[in-house]
Amino acid sequence: MKIETLLAQAGSRWDETTGAISMPIYQTVTFRHPGLGMSTGYDYSRTVNPTRQVLEDTMAKLEGGCKAFAFSSGMAAIDCIAHLFKTGDAVAVTEDPYGGTVRLFDKVYSNFGIKPLYIDTSDLEAVKKCLSEGVKAIFIESPTNPMLKIADIRAIVQLARDHGALTIVDNTFNTPLIQRPLELGADIVVYSATKYLSGHNDVLAGIAVAKDPGLCEKLSFFQNAIGAVLSPQDSWLVLRGLKTLSVRMPKQQANAYAIAHWLNANSRVKRVYYPGMLKSNRHRLYGKQFFGPGAIVSFEVDDQAVVPELLSRVRVFIFAESLGGVESLITFPALQTHNDIPEETRERLGINDRLLRLSIGIEHLKDLITDLDDAFSGAGIRGGP
Ligand code: PLP
Repeated sequence: MKIETLLAQAGSRWDETTGAISMPIYQTVTFRHPGLGMSTGYDYSRTVNPTRQVLEDTMAKLEGGCKAFAFSSGMAAIDCIAHLFKTGDAVAVTEDPYGGTVRLFDKVYSNFGIKPLYIDTSDLEAVKKCLSEGVKAIFIESPTNPMLKIADIRAIVQLARDHGALTIVDNTFNTPLIQRPLELGADIVVYSATKYLSGHNDVLAGIAVAKDPGLCEKLSFFQNAIGAVLSPQDSWLVLRGLKTLSVRMPKQQANAYAIAHWLNANSRVKRVYYPGMLKSNRHRLYGKQFFGPGAIVSFEVDDQAVVPELLSRVRVFIFAESLGGVESLITFPALQTHNDIPEETRERLGINDRLLRLSIGIEHLKDLITDLDDAFSGAGIRGGP
């Protein structure tokens, strides 16, 4: 079955009793047992809940995984995965991931003796080096946030396997429509389902999917033991979002592609970061590893003074954190999503005070471009080409 069909019919055939096409929300904590030593398969909702289970089964199918796990946020999903490591372990992490991931490794796990090693995962030599130093896992974000660098996941998996290390991919920016890391050999794929998977800026959620049954067993144990599970209501919201993912994502992507090129022709924009404009050998990963450039565009203006002007002048773009929803958002990473990254690191990575990130939604392209053009012009700066 094609991915679009799986998405559209997520949970639609589950309820044999009534034939409900929308998966019912099982808003219950506990389940009546038919008798002593008997179970319907459902005992307590932290362990398993039918609405969450349908979401998890759908995600496992979409990713080609053995089992999926739904959490109350993307950070809770990453946290569950991190419980695979113990004191003394080092984990290599993409050097420009979501700022919350850095915060978690630097300010939480370091207290437990788990050491993060930040590397450029688009550089295979850097990956080889950290593996030779004995890291237990490579945690990849690709494209990275907000610099949109691409890592060669298949090549990293090969290297990691040779060293007995796990490959974990935060696939939030892509969704399974664009990139399926488990099919590329990765061990675990993780999502902030808050973003594209749910797609409407109305639910916080996280998903982890693993391939190996042994790993799934461990994650299943941690999910239940830690307990940061997704509620039935929120599971339903993510399921509902998934149903339209295959129409939302291409529209967002087409808008993003056009906007990235419009920005690129703007004389006051110094640089545009967008996988759809990749030059060099990264291009060869297109079609082999990922099937679309996604809908996040970062750009650097030539003068810091332009940033507050643009943020206050946009009327269609909304100045807010987050990404992946149907509404277009504009974000200032240095102060918002990546504020937890030390300033000198941010500067080195290019997350400076002139960088803005756009999450492109499904609005009419003309309105989006006119909005940016007006904002540039209003700031005393002539806009597009
Ligand atoms: N991973 C990425 C790439 C993100 O962008 C985010 C949030 O922005 C997260 C993880 C954390 O997800 P959540 O906000 O759902 O906890």
